Amino acid sequence: MGLMTQEECIRGAYGLLETVTPLRGDCGRLCGKACCKGDENTGMWLLPGEEKLLEHRKDFHVRTCQDNAGYPLAVCRGRCAREYRPFACRIYPLFPLVTPGKEGGLKITAIYDPRSTSNCLLTQYALGRYGSSVNSANPLEDSLSPYIATARRRGITPSFLIRLRKAGAMLLADQELRQYLLDTSRFLIELAELRQKVGVSPTLPRNL
Ligand code: SF4
Ligand code: SF4
Repeated sequence: MGLMTQEECIRGAYGLLETVTPLRGDCGRLCGKACCKGDENTGMWLLPGEEKLLEHRKDFHVRTCQDNAGYPLAVCRGRCAREYRPFACRIYPLFPLVTPGKEGGLKITAIYDPRSTSNCLLTQYALGRYGSSVNSANPLEDSLSPYIATARRRGITPSFLIRLRKAGAMLLADQELRQYLLDTSRFLIELAELRQKVGVSPTLPRNL
C-alpha cells in the first residue's frame, strides 16, 4: 500500500469511528446533547485539512480560532448529518493522547479530554467517581491519571476505546496530523498539570 494522503487518513479515522459511540446507549438522552449546543464562539476543533471535507456542507461553517494549535473551528446548528460529523464530534469527550513511547516510537492513550469537564456528563461522572483513586510515582502521569479512560471506567465501551486508539494511529501516518496530535496532547497535559498545581480538583461537585 502506498503512502496515505492526509484526506485518506482523516477519512480512515472517520470510518473507524462511524458506528461506535462512547456508551452503548445514546448519552445525549442523559444530558440533552450538551456537546451539540454550542454558539458562535464554541464549536468543534478541526484537524489540519479537515475543513476541506466540510466545504460543501450547509450544516457547518468554518471559522478561524485562537487556540486549536492555529487550526480552524467548525460551528454547527446543533444538528448534522451524522456521517459528516467532524473528528472532534466522533471522539468527544475523549482524546487519543500521543506521547513518546518505547524505542523512539509514539504511544497513544485514551483520555477524557480535560476540556470536556465543564459540559460533559460522562467526563464529570468518570472524574467524580474515579478522579482521586489513581496515583502514580510519576508526577506527569499523576496529573493525567484522573483523565485516563479505561474500560474499567463504567460507561465507555471497550470497542470505542480500541477504535479511538486505532483512529489516532491512522492520523499519525500524516506528518501534519501527527504534529497536531502531539501539540494538542502537550496542551492537554499542560492543562491537567496546571489544574493539579493550582489545586483545581478534577473531581467536580456535581452529585451523580
Ligand atoms: S458526549 Fe457528553 S456532552 Fe455529549 S451527549 Fe454525551 S454526555 Fe452529553
Ligand atoms: S456537528 Fe453534529 S455531532 Fe457535532 S456538535 Fe454539531 S450537531 Fe453535534
